[in-house]
Amino acid sequence: MDLYFDNAATTRLSDEALEAYIRTEKEFFGNPSSVHRDGIKAKKELERIRSSIASVIGIQSSSLFFTSGATDSIASVFSSLLFNEPGRIIISSIEHEAVASWLPILRHHGWDTVQLKAKGGRVSPDELASLLTPDTKLVAVMAVNNVTGAVEDIKALTGTVREYEKKGGRKIFFFSDSVQALGKVPYDITSLGIDGASFSGHKINGPRGIGMLYLRNPSAFRPLAPAGGQEHGKRGGTENLPAIAALEKAVLSWIKRFDEEQPRIKALNSKIREALTRQGLEILSPEDASPYIISFVSPLPSEVYVRMLSDKGISASSGSACSNNAKGEGEKILLSMGINGSKARNAVRISFSGNTDEESAEAFINAIKEIR
Ligand code: PLP
Repeated sequence: MDLYFDNAATTRLSDEALEAYIRTEKEFFGNPSSVHRDGIKAKKELERIRSSIASVIGIQSSSLFFTSGATDSIASVFSSLLFNEPGRIIISSIEHEAVASWLPILRHHGWDTVQLKAKGGRVSPDELASLLTPDTKLVAVMAVNNVTGAVEDIKALTGTVREYEKKGGRKIFFFSDSVQALGKVPYDITSLGIDGASFSGHKINGPRGIGMLYLRNPSAFRPLAPAGGQEHGKRGGTENLPAIAALEKAVLSWIKRFDEEQPRIKALNSKIREALTRQGLEILSPEDASPYIISFVSPLPSEVYVRMLSDKGISASSGSACSNNAKGEGEKILLSMGINGSKARNAVRISFSGNTDEESAEAFINAIKEIR
């Protein structure tokens, strides 16, 4: 039985990902940039994996770049703005710190930064339309929120931006941090119409320290630090091939199992939502949120409640536990969704993975009955 309910923070490395990691470390130890036999062998494997992942995600392999995690992918995009004449950037007010922390840096460099409200967790295309200006260069809205699981209507938002572009005649880069979306909610990059996206290995049973960056039009992208020119000049640094091989297993596994996992996880989610409601605990996640995340108002300050769950062997989170310098990030996001301060302070997040089963759900339900 798996009592780990903090999969939005990080997941266990799967056995097949670990095996791929070890095998690749041994077999493909050459540097993919080296021109000798071992380097060429590693390079071939790297490009094989790039095509394999790109094809299951439904994109061109030339649009996919490996990074050291979503934070790194996001930094590539936001730091590249520093090459441009300052203009406006618009981001949602519920972005992860990996995105939001770029605002003061860009402001310092003369950028006009605007945050989109997300009442009830959702960004409105009409509000976005009202904030677009001729000097807007980038819009960033995450695909799935990491605190509540709210799924944004990215297609409608990119539609709004594209309509505006037709009038203004200038290209606006639409970025969507998709860490909590891949493999967890229906997600089709091409039909979403985005220009860039970030992904993370450790949220889908891959290793930590590996991620991906999608760029629809890589030739238009100039990274701030191309360094050694790896990753087709878009992200410098020796590629972490063993982690990339493990990531391939993780991505393929989540995408392959999507159709059977969705109804199973949705059923577990409903069961837990019903139990929370029976206990009189308010659920903060929208009805149609990602089935992998439930945020609710506990009867105690969240840190106390999470510790009491932990005493029962259950790992949950008091908000967004994926950043350690941003204490209260989850609370901040809930406040910007319009949730009041005392509810936000008592908010607890549980998040599932393929290892969460009926027994896990039962154990959680029993625990919440006992903690008052
Ligand atoms: N974006 C979201 C929505 C996340 O949940 C996380 C989690 O930490 C990140 C970005 C950062 O990902 P990484 O740990 O791969 O840098």
